[in-house]
Amino acid sequence: MEEHFFLINLGKKSSFLFECHIRIAPLELSCTAEVLIGEWVIFKKMQEYDIVIIGAGPIGLACGIEAKKAGLRYLIIEKGCLVNSLYHYPLNMTFFSTSEKLEIGGVPFISHGSKPNRAEALEYYRRVASSWELQIKLYEKVESVTNGNGTFEIETSKRNYSSQALILALGFYDLPYLLNIPGEDLPKVRHYYDEPHPYFNQKIVVVGAANSAVDVALETYRKGAEVTMVIRESEIRESVKYWVRPDIENRIKEGTIKAYFNSEIKKIEQKVVEINTPEGPLLLDNDFVLAMTGYQPPFDFMKSLGIQFLDDEFHTPVYNDKTMESSVSNLYLAGVVCGGLKTNKWFIENSRVHAELIIETVKQKALH
Ligand SMILES: Cc1cc2nc3c(=O)[nH]c(=O)nc-3n(C[C@H](O)[C@H](O)[C@H](O)COP(=O)(O)OP(=O)(O)OC[C@H]3O[C@@H](n4cnc5c(N)ncnc54)[C@H](O)[C@@H]3O)c2cc1C
Repeated sequence: MEEHFFLINLGKKSSFLFECHIRIAPLELSCTAEVLIGEWVIFKKMQEYDIVIIGAGPIGLACGIEAKKAGLRYLIIEKGCLVNSLYHYPLNMTFFSTSEKLEIGGVPFISHGSKPNRAEALEYYRRVASSWELQIKLYEKVESVTNGNGTFEIETSKRNYSSQALILALGFYDLPYLLNIPGEDLPKVRHYYDEPHPYFNQKIVVVGAANSAVDVALETYRKGAEVTMVIRESEIRESVKYWVRPDIENRIKEGTIKAYFNSEIKKIEQKVVEINTPEGPLLLDNDFVLAMTGYQPPFDFMKSLGIQFLDDEFHTPVYNDKTMESSVSNLYLAGVVCGGLKTNKWFIENSRVHAELIIETVKQKALH
């Protein structure tokens, strides 16, 4: 939206009108009166918000809280439900962090055990959003953002907004790494895992060797699935939680979970999968494939905003780690998205602080 000025005849009322809200469907604009010429007024479109936050994950919410504390006009826009990524985590998962490490906005997080489960985390973040009365638009996807004349114009699936600054707290859970092999589009292939019950008495292949793959293999095995892991590397990843690692290694050693190391899945068919192993190709009888191969941030969307990236293996976005400002002025990065492909670098525990860094910077800029 390029036009920023409107000429409107308001009759005699114009002499005392300086700010108003104009509704010319489908637009709704906040405006200030710039020039009065008789009954005619030239209005200038105001930026609706000081700061818009894309993503209502834990870190987007933390940014909203800091913006509210600073008295900024702010809005959080979320394409799904509140803490959408957490909602899609496995139903029986337990966080590796203790509950106080997941707290935001000074709201205490009390869980039954020291480490909360998914249901407790959903309950907690709902309580945070209500107690801070955060302004959040849910089920509204940000489709595109244009940046001109010091204003971000944000187009969502429902309407347009304008803001002086923008925070991307986009997470990484929307785009799974694809296997890019024939048969990946079959309904029996899943890139997200929710619960073990559907896999009882089924032959499943779990692809991957990181935390998610290991959790899925152990849980489905314990609920009656026949599990085979197909692992590209020569061992279970070092990053696997230290209290889980011995469990999976012992199950593999005793043969109750089968694992093919230095192996790759090549083709998926209705009844079988084909894998390449160091001993040669193999056909396995198979009912389901759970491809736990990780997820990646929405790089295309970030690039469309002009954000630059380092030339490193993780495709790390460029930002100032004191202010969290990206290579684009007034555009900030928060949360897991800051790590690029290194999606285990930033998590709730260690990226909550991004919110304070950003809002402090926004406040300092406003003073100068
Ligand atoms: C199984 C599992 C267990 C974990 N356990 C822990 C733990 O114990 N401790 C810990 O600290 N971390 C843990 N993590 C990591 C942690 O959940 C993430 O690092 C955290 O969610 C990051 O928060 P975020 O706000 O940056 O991103 P997210 O929580 O991913 O939020 C991003 C939000 O942006 C929304 N969004 C994306 N694109 C758009 C768009 N175009 N328009 C509008 N909205 C959009 C998404 O829907 C999403 O709600 C775990 C992760 C997994 C997968």
